[in-house]
Amino acid sequence: MKVSVPKETAAGERRVALVPEVVDRLAKDGVEVTLETGAGAGAHHPDAAYEQAGARIGDGFSGEVVAKVSPPSAEEIDRLSRGAVLVGLLQPLTGADTVRALAGAGVTSFAMEAIPRISRAQSMDALSSQATVTGYVAALIAARELPRFFPMLTTAAGTVRPAKVLVLGAGVAGLQAIATSRRLGAAVQAFDVRSAVKEQIESLGARFLELDMGLEDAEAAGGYARPLTDEEQQRQRELLAEEIGQMDAVICTAAVPGRPAPLLVTEQAVRNMKPGSVIVDLAAETGGNCELTEPGETVVREDVTIVGPLGLASTMPDHASSLYARNVQALLQLMVKEGELTLDFEDEVLAGACITRDGEIVHEGARKAAEVAA
Ligand code: NAD
Repeated sequence: MKVSVPKETAAGERRVALVPEVVDRLAKDGVEVTLETGAGAGAHHPDAAYEQAGARIGDGFSGEVVAKVSPPSAEEIDRLSRGAVLVGLLQPLTGADTVRALAGAGVTSFAMEAIPRISRAQSMDALSSQATVTGYVAALIAARELPRFFPMLTTAAGTVRPAKVLVLGAGVAGLQAIATSRRLGAAVQAFDVRSAVKEQIESLGARFLELDMGLEDAEAAGGYARPLTDEEQQRQRELLAEEIGQMDAVICTAAVPGRPAPLLVTEQAVRNMKPGSVIVDLAAETGGNCELTEPGETVVREDVTIVGPLGLASTMPDHASSLYARNVQALLQLMVKEGELTLDFEDEVLAGACITRDGEIVHEGARKAAEVAA
């Protein structure tokens, strides 16, 4: 099976779909890799390291399978041949134009985000691997932006109290933000509408913030949160506004799949915070959990710094690429039989992740999203 890796062209994208170590492992399954020159440079993997691992340097779009990170641009889709297989983070629920163009170009595309989150596919779970990176980086940003220490310090000049950090949403990114903030010595509280995460939060040495929302549990299918009703959301925002006033830093990670981010931090909550406090809103990608977030910007409102980062995983490109490449490796291994590309659409992982095929949008969610956008 021939796999090629183009150099990413999206603004700010420094990740690469395969790293040398994974090229070497794939070779054992009969996978030959061709890499566009410089494709690994942003993640600090020079061409020579790929060549040493057995890859060729050449056309990044020449493979039977093209492995990417970011969704392809229109020009990149033009370079894909009819019947080619594309693997990447394709944003199937929000990138309607890309999905339609891929169908029109006769490309068989697989979105890493659409891989079913079942135990067998855990090694392919790029949402989790990249959220691990963003959660970690978000905590570092909060620590750096805060004009105060995270840890408690006892010094000759007096004692410094630890920073109070609140993490909203305790999925993969939230749990990593909790763990990282704890390692830096902050006193961490966290809140999620799924009560199952209480134990996970406590096992990381943080406190589960109890809000008297009259809510039993808001866990829906697949371990995700269900959207809250308008009344529940209103109640949550009011209760949170008071708690947030006690915090030095808030790290927002709350999300509901396929929907805009829930609004949790109101302007009033920001006003309640001490001057110099910090909000890092990872939900900026889908609109933000904070009312005052400006996606892609760092703004100061009411003397509170509000960071709305986009594409955060790409700011730690080495490990983000290594983890992503292992996810891609596991998916490619499902596509190769005796060294040949063999797509078994009876396999629920391949069937679930397939977005376009034979000129059609075959993924139900992507098809609906494309219809709505049209
Ligand atoms: P996500 O990015 O969709 O959401 C982040 C968090 O926000 C979730 O914990 C969610 O409950 C929370 N949230 C939503 N609305 C909220 C609100 N109004 N207030 C506070 N919090 C809110 O989630 P994710 O990190 O991708 O994963 C969530 C869950 O999915 C996991 O904990 C797990 O149960 C499941 N999962 C399964 C697998 C697997 O089996 N392979 C892998 C990863 C995750």
